Amino acid sequence: MMLMGKSTVLLKFKLHKRTIRLCLGACIAILAPILALIVAPCFCDDPMTIINRRTPVRTFYDINGQVIHMEPTYDFQWRFDIPLEDVSPFAIRAILDTEDTRFFQHGGVDYRSTIRAACQNLFHRKIVSGASTISMQLVSISKPRKRSYWNKILQATEARRLEQLHSKDEILQAYLNHLPFGGKIYGIQAASQAYFGVNASQLNRSEATLLAGIPQRPNAFKPDKYLQRARKRQITVLNLMRRNNSIAQDELIDIIKNEPLRMTKDRSYYPIAPKINPIHTHFINLARQEAQNSLHINCAIDTQATHLIHKALVDQLNKLPDVNDAAAVLIHNSSRQCRAIIGTVDFSNPIDGQVNAATAIRSAGSTLKPFIFLESMDAGLITADTILNDAKINFSGYAPGNYDGQYSGKIRAAEALAFSLNTPAVNLLKQITTQRMIRKLNEIDLVSSRINHANHGLALALGTVGHSLLNLTNAYSTIPNQGFFQKATFINQSNNSPISIAFSRPATQLITQILTSRELPQATFPIAWKTGTSTGNHDAWCIAFTPEYTIGIWVGNKNGKPSASLVGATAAIPPAVHALQAIYKNSFPKPWEYDQQLLPLNKICAESGLAPTPACKKIKLAQTLLNVPLAHCKKCTRFTKQQQITILSPKHNTYLTEDDEPVTLNLEANLKDVIWFIDGQFIGTLPNGSTHDFTPGRHTITAVDPNHNAKSHKISFAVDQLVLED
Ligand SMILES: [Zn+2]
Repeated sequence: MMLMGKSTVLLKFKLHKRTIRLCLGACIAILAPILALIVAPCFCDDPMTIINRRTPVRTFYDINGQVIHMEPTYDFQWRFDIPLEDVSPFAIRAILDTEDTRFFQHGGVDYRSTIRAACQNLFHRKIVSGASTISMQLVSISKPRKRSYWNKILQATEARRLEQLHSKDEILQAYLNHLPFGGKIYGIQAASQAYFGVNASQLNRSEATLLAGIPQRPNAFKPDKYLQRARKRQITVLNLMRRNNSIAQDELIDIIKNEPLRMTKDRSYYPIAPKINPIHTHFINLARQEAQNSLHINCAIDTQATHLIHKALVDQLNKLPDVNDAAAVLIHNSSRQCRAIIGTVDFSNPIDGQVNAATAIRSAGSTLKPFIFLESMDAGLITADTILNDAKINFSGYAPGNYDGQYSGKIRAAEALAFSLNTPAVNLLKQITTQRMIRKLNEIDLVSSRINHANHGLALALGTVGHSLLNLTNAYSTIPNQGFFQKATFINQSNNSPISIAFSRPATQLITQILTSRELPQATFPIAWKTGTSTGNHDAWCIAFTPEYTIGIWVGNKNGKPSASLVGATAAIPPAVHALQAIYKNSFPKPWEYDQQLLPLNKICAESGLAPTPACKKIKLAQTLLNVPLAHCKKCTRFTKQQQITILSPKHNTYLTEDDEPVTLNLEANLKDVIWFIDGQFIGTLPNGSTHDFTPGRHTITAVDPNHNAKSHKISFAVDQLVLED
């Protein structure tokens, strides 16, 4: 009994020990994953950082807010980031009911669903249900992994981490923006636009439930390919919603029977982006550079104006058989926003079509002249009425002539510019110096600061330094902007680039008056304009501006081939005029607002057109620049000098003396006080009637005006010995 009793106790003890071990094992088996799920997430990275690194589609809008281009992500996904508020609440409900009913109740892992799924998987001896919550799916989107129990545990751990670091709304928003909807379409906004042409906020209940069913098998339920399958899946979604009491039975029937699917039919827009219009390509490229990482790029482009300008260019090229390309830039003066950039008309050309001629550097002929005149005005060298000399010049071998080989002689500065005469511009540049001009051109972005002025010299006046049509047009818009220079922007927002004062307000107003003084052929309203033709007829230019817009036109061959028809006035004016007229349609530009106080009427010398001196005889009133002192007339000073001093005594004669005695002669001139030089020796300023003794021999005597107003007088005479005849 004792033995039996002892062995029973031992058995009980052994059994007890095994039970404890079993219980401990069970506890560890249950507690370990739970502990792991609590502790392990602390060692995980935030899965949202990977999600946030995925850039969505970039959308480009025109000045009126119309979409002109969309760019897919680097991996060609069509995906948009939209806030949760922009998604139809019904669609959100449908997706939650389909994917994760208890989303707002669990902390990343839905244990109830997990146990149910585990039982189902055990029964089927394979994974039939993942019990993935939305958070777990988002983790899976960020790090796709193979299906396995171990990966499932990792996914659950990271989902817990996600929930620790982010709010439910943040997780839901990221999920809706990254869900796959078939093909390259990701996120509910891209899906709404691709399949129904609406935003995610505008989905009707039928569309919302159809979309909610797609992510489970995106390519199998793609509604544009497998609509029947997708509709069948939609019924499942509706039933799930019904089961969760999100909709009533009659609502379910109403949705199926009465709500239409507004399927998109236009496959040319597939998947969702309007194809980029080649006319906008060059503008979009520049806007993209400026916008850097923005997803919504509000371009300053005026698409309507762009099309009108493009048409004007095409029409002109049809008239120029040996010219194959053209470019244009339109700048809105007050905002300094670029409204149009057309870098080519031949977009079909695989090589030339890609080259943006509007930003290419080319020789721009006479188009720099207005800036030389502006700088000369600000230097006080000229006003509109200053007389310049249009005649042959030769500066150490540099002898530029006029385009037509003719010279106009004396001409007003205003006309010299309006008629684009070369020699007056070269003369002005010589006076202001190329060094100063290059500094100014650099200020208005027309030449690089590294340019060596010595390499260009006076030929700079005739456009030997190259610049782009874009920079040239923007530099011109400094004139209607009263001398303020600013870089042009391609984005429709206030231009934050620095503003500098390049020219004075009076000078820009006067230049505007001059550039509008000649009517632009075929224009029905006043337009300020200037043309240019590069040496050798390679490029034809016209820059024209109204108070609102500055337009720049280049016509030429991209391969640089010259053509006799490449003349600014005939090749580039017509598209500039036609484009501006079309942009204004039947309206007119604002009238020019001239402030007469900037150009007060003052006396100038009528002979030189400069500030008069007492020597100037003919005086007239003319516009001068406020606060810019005008150089004094030197011409009339030279004129008075020709009124020579006349020595009245001694005379140009021979004086006789006896016995080598000096002859005493009076020193007299037609001026009161005169400086006398006798035989090259300075004598002094002597009053008329002073005397001097002259020994026998030849003498020279010079009278000089101490005020330098009259030309000096020099005579010579002789004092001879009187030989008495016997
Ligand atoms: Zn004068």
